[in-house]
Amino acid sequence: MTEQQQLSQIYLDANATTPVLPAAAQAALETMQTQFGNPSSSHITGLQAKQIMEQTRGKARKVIGASSGQVIFTSGATEGIQTAILSALYQAKHNYSSEKKPCILYGATEHKAVPESLKHWNHILDIHAEIKAIPVDKDGMLDMDYIAKEVPNALMICTMAVNNETGAEQDLSKLEQVIRSNNPETFWMVDCVQALGKVELDITNTSIDYAPFSGHKLYAMKGIGFVYIREQAPFTPFIAGGGQESGLRSGTENLPGLASLNMIFDELLGQGTGAFADKATLTHYRAQLAEALTTAFPTIVFNNNFACSVPTTLNFAIPGFSAKEILDLFDAANIRVSSGSACSSKVTGSFVLDAMGLPRAQSEAAIRLSFGPAATQHEINDACERIAYCAKALGHSCLVNMNELDNKSTLDGLVQFKVGGSCCWLFVDGDSREAVIIEPLAELTQRLLTVIECQGLKLKAVIDTHGHADHASSRTQLLNDELTAQKTDHLGWPKHCETTVIAGHQLAFIEVGQFALVKVATPGHTEDSISMSLCHKDELAAGKINSLYTFCGDLVLMGTLGRTNFESSDTQKMYHSLTLLHSLLGNDSLLCPSHDYNNEFVTTLDAEMKRNKLLADVLTQSLSLKTFIEQKVQLDNQIHDEKNQEIMCGALTGCTQKHHFIELNKDTLQTHLETHQNVQLIDIREPHEYALNHAQQFDKNVPLTRLADFIAAQKPHKSQPLVLVCRSGSRSSVAAQALARLGFDQVAHLKGGYALAH
Ligand code: PLP
Repeated sequence: MTEQQQLSQIYLDANATTPVLPAAAQAALETMQTQFGNPSSSHITGLQAKQIMEQTRGKARKVIGASSGQVIFTSGATEGIQTAILSALYQAKHNYSSEKKPCILYGATEHKAVPESLKHWNHILDIHAEIKAIPVDKDGMLDMDYIAKEVPNALMICTMAVNNETGAEQDLSKLEQVIRSNNPETFWMVDCVQALGKVELDITNTSIDYAPFSGHKLYAMKGIGFVYIREQAPFTPFIAGGGQESGLRSGTENLPGLASLNMIFDELLGQGTGAFADKATLTHYRAQLAEALTTAFPTIVFNNNFACSVPTTLNFAIPGFSAKEILDLFDAANIRVSSGSACSSKVTGSFVLDAMGLPRAQSEAAIRLSFGPAATQHEINDACERIAYCAKALGHSCLVNMNELDNKSTLDGLVQFKVGGSCCWLFVDGDSREAVIIEPLAELTQRLLTVIECQGLKLKAVIDTHGHADHASSRTQLLNDELTAQKTDHLGWPKHCETTVIAGHQLAFIEVGQFALVKVATPGHTEDSISMSLCHKDELAAGKINSLYTFCGDLVLMGTLGRTNFESSDTQKMYHSLTLLHSLLGNDSLLCPSHDYNNEFVTTLDAEMKRNKLLADVLTQSLSLKTFIEQKVQLDNQIHDEKNQEIMCGALTGCTQKHHFIELNKDTLQTHLETHQNVQLIDIREPHEYALNHAQQFDKNVPLTRLADFIAAQKPHKSQPLVLVCRSGSRSSVAAQALARLGFDQVAHLKGGYALAH
């Protein structure tokens, strides 16, 4: 990738918002600096402003085909939606006289502004109609039979012309026929936000009562929009005041916004700079992008049916990757896309795709790529090229297997994978390429198989620490022929292996290159629970476990102890297992539990004893076995199962304490780097993100999957100043918190991340 490509951004999130077209920005600037009048003023400056406003209104009418009715300027579509809903429901409340309880209908895939406003006004106006979502089919098309059945009783029906997540385009004439043949009187709002500039509208020749539009979705400024109101449709002002917009919408008009919209209308009416491509060209762009995506990610699934969507939206999932992973990957390549709707980017899964009946995994992994009519062939070519780079970056870090790549990174040490609150560990001995997997999770099977093949790993064992209650082990799916033939117990531990005696305990171990994995029976959480310590083979031969990592299953969890209220649990045995592990490992050895509910990665007995009094009391022998059992029952009674639909393996206590680390911003970063000696600047993003785009000055790349490995290596140097940086500041803050908790006392992170550092 050239330097230029690294710097320039390709914005493919037009359904969230668009940049302002240069001609529109110029027009807005002029109204701020020269033609800045208030349209209500009667002097010349005011009259000029009014002229811009009325000219814009005239063009709006032409663009949407509104030869009659009202066109009122608003702050955006959300205000247009309020205006429409308030007007319709206020009237409907007075009209309705049926015995039957009325309903209000809206499409299940509608933008949240619609159902939320319906709920709000239904409540405020004291109507208490039943608000019903109209189901959609797998393509997002409204269920006409449902509408035919329900609409006779509907005060109002709200539908959308084009969906913002999928681009699905409703057949408005069919919809009109079904609505009006069953209820000629009901009020009908059509959200036209995503249709403007992409779909021909001839609104007066329909019976649509209200149609809200937004400027910022089509290269005008934010804060400007308009709403069409049919001639006979009822109207109630949503904003009262100085009587602007003929008293229909008060408040001084947003003239710069209007001027920008004016320019966009020129483009739509063929009187502008020719910035907008026609439908055939946009369809060609979509085909090109779809092909580039399919070539880069052959397993891709498209979530929208191109045959009934506008050409500017592609919605897809790449099996095996979360939406966040793809979003971060694309962001690193400076391609901006979104996961689901921008307004709900914190929410996992898309209610739109859920309503279409798509599998949950597909909905959770959904990425929306959207462009506008001002997209250029050059931009699309560039995007296609970068999509190929993104796939290659995944190949370099072995997240997809690309045989033709020669300079793949070489894995060495511990990798921590997570699915929800569950952890899975892969340890690789760098020299011999021998590896073990601990706590295999079904969701990771494909990813692990790819890594093993791509890295040429020789898998020595796949082992669970116990029979898990919250998930099924995927151990057997990972075994090669050799391992399948090997005799093991039900957890995957080999039947025939060497043993050694440590502190009077005979312990079995297996070799992984220059390391040994030593098994210690630690029953309690379940009868079959084991812990496994990884240490150097030579040290073990010398009679010590100088453990690098101990995979302790659900014996000690971060902030708690594993639950012992299963049928196969034994609290008394847990007490002895805890003291045994302590006597073998000491306080400071790194523990890798099977769960990490709070993004803490790894822990030590020392760190846990500071916040877990019960554990501290056991290990300092200040608690009798009897009292431990009593207190453990109380602890397990605090378990609130199915947090995020997971069975919790321990009652979380003591995880809320915040540990101190330094927060830097763009301005303080430089001073911090200058005033601290020997600072290590660490990029916390995943290696493929790092490979796509990073600043020269980073000393290291430590993704969260490798934080445990970094902690083990860095443990002797806890006072080394570290500055952690990621894309948005969220991963670096999580890592900084985890390091600070383990006693790293010179940790800083860049708040706001890369995004704000430029
Ligand atoms: N309706 C749809 C379909 C949208 O996509 C959006 C914006 O995301 C809105 C309504 C809200 O528009 P505005 O941001 O102008 O209030």
